[in-house]
Amino acid sequence: MRAARSQLVVVWIVLFLGPCLALAAEPARRSILVLDQSEAKSAFYNAVFFGLRSTVSKASGEPVNIYIETFDLSRFKSELYEASLKSHLRTKYTDRQPGVIVTVGGEALKMALRWRAELWPNVPLVFSLVSEQTISRLNPGPDVTGSLVRLRFEDMLTAARAVVPDLTQLALVGDAWDTQTVYGDLKDEIPAATDGVAIIDLVGLPMSELRTRVAALPPRTAIAYTGIYSDGHDTFYSPLEALGHFADVANAPIVGTAETFVGPGAIGGFVMMPARIGQEAAQLALRILDGESASQIPVTLGNSVQPVFDWRQMQRWGVKESDLPPDSETLFREPGLWELYAWQMAAIVAVTGLQSLLITALLYQRRGRRAAEGNARQRMTELAHVNRQATVGQLSASIAHELNQPLGSIYNNVEAATLNLSSPNPNLEEIGAILHDIKRDDQRASEVIRRLRRFLTLNTVERHEMDLNEAVREVFGILSMQAAARDVRLHSKLTQQRLRVKGDPIQIQQVILNLVVNGIEAVSGASNGIREIVCTSWASDRDLALLSIRDSGPGIAPDHLEKIFEPFFTTKEQGMGMGLCISRTIIEAHGGSLSVEGRPNGAVFHIHLPLAQLERT
Ligand code: ADP
Repeated sequence: MRAARSQLVVVWIVLFLGPCLALAAEPARRSILVLDQSEAKSAFYNAVFFGLRSTVSKASGEPVNIYIETFDLSRFKSELYEASLKSHLRTKYTDRQPGVIVTVGGEALKMALRWRAELWPNVPLVFSLVSEQTISRLNPGPDVTGSLVRLRFEDMLTAARAVVPDLTQLALVGDAWDTQTVYGDLKDEIPAATDGVAIIDLVGLPMSELRTRVAALPPRTAIAYTGIYSDGHDTFYSPLEALGHFADVANAPIVGTAETFVGPGAIGGFVMMPARIGQEAAQLALRILDGESASQIPVTLGNSVQPVFDWRQMQRWGVKESDLPPDSETLFREPGLWELYAWQMAAIVAVTGLQSLLITALLYQRRGRRAAEGNARQRMTELAHVNRQATVGQLSASIAHELNQPLGSIYNNVEAATLNLSSPNPNLEEIGAILHDIKRDDQRASEVIRRLRRFLTLNTVERHEMDLNEAVREVFGILSMQAAARDVRLHSKLTQQRLRVKGDPIQIQQVILNLVVNGIEAVSGASNGIREIVCTSWASDRDLALLSIRDSGPGIAPDHLEKIFEPFFTTKEQGMGMGLCISRTIIEAHGGSLSVEGRPNGAVFHIHLPLAQLERT
């Protein structure tokens, strides 16, 4: 029986004292009750709460319980609703007296102040998202602190001017001023702040009309958007959703008031940063939970409004970063190639730079080489000219002889014709034959002079197709008298084909002339035996024209074989030692080669030149 009674006592204790024990177990007053005027899913208010919660959870010390109540006051506003909320909260928090109340928004603050004495006497209050004007109107009383949000119409205008530099109109878009829970105070600032900018009032318009109006705004207009919650009737929006409904048709950039508008349609502006609003409120709430008195914490202006702009919208409206207000933050900037591929870009720039340097150096070098080549060609042409003059100088006796012969013959023929004419019966037939001979001799003399003149011109290098065999014949023509005078036979074994090479005829002739003159001189020195120069030409199967000039002279000593091509090497008393040097230079400049075989019974010089065209005659 005693046992039964003691069991009853335990049940009694559990039933009646249990709740009291549970209450005592909860950490006393280490909790925050957040009263939020918005609806639960609003992006902006979610960001406020996120900022608050993350600041609290990062703080050291004992854990803090956060309770949140969202009232949706922009859509539900009636005394009955307020009374039911109040009764609901009274019931809900009977056993959970918060350590501090945080209100989000002016309407939530007003409500909390009305309920405070009844529901939460002696619980300190921290407000957030409230303007200076609202606070001065409310006069919140003791144990209340908070940080203020300063939204100014003047800042809106500054932002509008930044995105439309020659701004003349500002179109205002938002809920009717008296229903605006956050921006209502801005209205009073408009008249003083417009400063030459005309206001286009689109406040409170139904969405369909608003879409039409924002699509046809005059040039040099910006839109200032404060937020649309309803069309004045029963259609409700979130301000973000409403922005999406007209931003796509707007023909002017939209300046916003909340960070959440930047990106989904607004270009930017001096916007409220919701996370920062939450952080500032949490910091104050934590100070109070840690023992500070709310009355001792002064109300200050927060740092939650900042110029923020959307880089993509800036591109669309042609706004440069330099146009933005000082300290503006630019969001959604697309990273440039440099930011995405920094080291790869650096490598490309380095390689391209090196390449350009190399190309510049090569071009410079090529220019220098070309200039040098041009100079060398010019020098060679002049030298070749001097060499021709010298050679012709050596030939002057035989040239004189060559000229004398036709001239003498002309003289004799004229005498014979004169005699014939002075006879009583002049033989006209014979006179005709004489005149024909005179004409022939005159042509011969003219031909000698023409050849020499052509040979002695200081030509600029002119390359065209020429017949190598023809050049040999021409040279033999020039040298025939000299060879005959020295009792040397000039013999040619030229190929039946025309040996077409691309070159300067005068220069090629000069080479052949130098080689044949050297040959004549070498043969002249020999006392006996065959005295001849043989010129042989043929085409190789490797597209080369070949010409060999062989003489029956003493040949060339092996140790002289290469020296003879050096400038000023001569074994002759009157020699200049330039002929072979010039000849090799000419042939090499034509893409060919000049070589020598120094046989004991005469020298053979070989000219190789690229064949231009091979034709059968
Ligand atoms: P130069 O005739 O004024 O001496 P070249 O350059 O024409 O100048 O010739 C250089 C030297 O090459 C000659 O002095 C001579 O010793 C040698 N040489 C050239 N051609 C022959 C040749 N056909 N036979 C033997 N020696 C030659």
